[in-house]
Amino acid sequence: MPIDLHAHSTASDGTEPAGVVVAQAARAGLDVVALTDHDTYAGWPAAVEAAQDAGIDLVRGVEVSCSLRGVSVHLLAYLVDPAAPGLGRELDRARESRVTRVDRMVELMAADGIPVTIDEVRAQAGVGTTMGRPHIADALVASGFVSTRDEAFTDVLRNGSRYHVSHYAPDPVRAVELVRDAGGVPVMAHPFANGRGWTVDDSVIERMAHAGLAGLEAHHRDHTPAERAHAVELAARLGQFVTGSSDYHGAGKENRLGENTTTAEVLAQIEDQATGGTDVVRVART
Ligand code: AMP
Ligand code: FE
Ligand code: FE
Ligand code: ZN
Repeated sequence: MPIDLHAHSTASDGTEPAGVVVAQAARAGLDVVALTDHDTYAGWPAAVEAAQDAGIDLVRGVEVSCSLRGVSVHLLAYLVDPAAPGLGRELDRARESRVTRVDRMVELMAADGIPVTIDEVRAQAGVGTTMGRPHIADALVASGFVSTRDEAFTDVLRNGSRYHVSHYAPDPVRAVELVRDAGGVPVMAHPFANGRGWTVDDSVIERMAHAGLAGLEAHHRDHTPAERAHAVELAARLGQFVTGSSDYHGAGKENRLGENTTTAEVLAQIEDQATGGTDVVRVART
């Protein structure tokens, strides 16, 4: 019963519409998929429709961008009530700040002669999308400056780049509380993915656990075997469950649906801990 609880659509920085992501998940042989776009619920309706058509169970979620002293933390939030105002306001604020931040990054790049404009980046992102660096990367691919998103991220878009600008994001401990207030279940995404930039230390995760964190995404391609092992140990010490997921972004990343998976027991715990804001869509054919 393969379960993959982390995937992105064009509602954020994936390259396929939410309905296509869900259909692909069914085609990949998954029984359950979670749609977890960055800072938005916009993909949920299309995902529900596609789950019913394709006969796959769907967990509706969101990947909340958080930040602590300049270090980025991603918090997966499953089965939250999309009408909950506290979390909703933080997501709105982060999305708005992402627009200004992308504009600023593009201005800095254009001023240095890098071939990119704000209109080109907006066109790559489309309407109603959570904007991010991947959309700048797509515009740079379109203008021929780089050949892949990955190449853009190793160069002008990397965290330490002179063109990098940060955006508003809530404190991760506060975000955990807001996810619980919204009836959802918070799981820390790729907690030790050092290849992407700085990560927080165990003491921060301990504080998140005390605030209501439910699990750690131990099994993720951005973790080395040692980082996975550390996540599993820390989870055990803090009474957290562990998940595994693909972090699928369509053609935007090499990650393939189902490359890491979560057990049915852990999904049952997620469903048990959720307080009814949003249900798991159950349609898988048996
Ligand atoms: P942002 O949230 O705008 O700062 O951009 C970070 C996002 O870029 C992450 O959510 C990743 O999905 C994506 N990303 C990071 N590194 C890469 C990469 N090497 N190739 C493609 N996408 C990446
Ligand atoms: Fe992403
Ligand atoms: Fe992430
Ligand atoms: Zn993700």
